[in-house]
Amino acid sequence: MKIELGPSGIGGYNNAVNNLKLFKSFGFNAAEVAFTYSIYLNKDQASLIGKKARELGISLSIHGQYYINLLSEDQEKIEQSKIRIMKAMEIGTYLGAEYVCFHPGYYGLLKRDEALSRIKDEILSMMDIRKDNNWTCAIAPEVTGRSSQFGDLDELLKISNITKCSLVVDFAHLYARNLGNIDYDLVFEKLLKIKKIYSQFTGIEFTEKGEKRHISLNENFIMPFAKAILKSKIPIRIICESPTPVDDSLKIQKVLKSLKSKG
Ligand SMILES: [Zn+2]
Repeated sequence: MKIELGPSGIGGYNNAVNNLKLFKSFGFNAAEVAFTYSIYLNKDQASLIGKKARELGISLSIHGQYYINLLSEDQEKIEQSKIRIMKAMEIGTYLGAEYVCFHPGYYGLLKRDEALSRIKDEILSMMDIRKDNNWTCAIAPEVTGRSSQFGDLDELLKISNITKCSLVVDFAHLYARNLGNIDYDLVFEKLLKIKKIYSQFTGIEFTEKGEKRHISLNENFIMPFAKAILKSKIPIRIICESPTPVDDSLKIQKVLKSLKSKG
């Protein structure tokens, strides 16, 4: 069972290759390109970084922009959201990134089943455009951290079943969304049919509304997650999204190593 692990954030164009070399020296084999505030690479830059990443054996993925709401009441905002996701998929194809993840939107006044149906339709429409353009980067809605945001695990599994899109399981978001309760074994049971889990992890603070902010990881928080990964035997990519993602990826690596050595 393959575990891919690495941080979110490869730095700007001038630093990206050096950062990837550093990640490799730490034993990381994955990294997330943060397009959260802007898609800051052009096609040529993305191709070059993608080539280097492949040479180094580092699998890339993308975090799409925060300014996305596929459930907006304003059709123009929905169209702009789709353009942002699709632009990331296009650049992601040059990067050789496996997927672009994004927070799908806010329920607002919509009933849950209506929200699900609308997100499904928007994803299907983007998947058609993806196919027409031969983009290789997959579309992957992410489990979100607040109850106001569309995307608990069951909703995303439904969407993925219907549309065949990928999904990203942000375990910290799940934890915050459920106000600090998470049964990792149960979560992995729901993911049994997935060939490879794309996941994100970080320390997190929450309020009664869910996610408040990301914080650094400690070993106690990592341990149950790491145990469930090894027990499940499903191949997984873990992207660390804490405020200190490189240090904390090393912490995850250390916990996994210690558990493996104990068998
Ligand atoms: Zn996210």
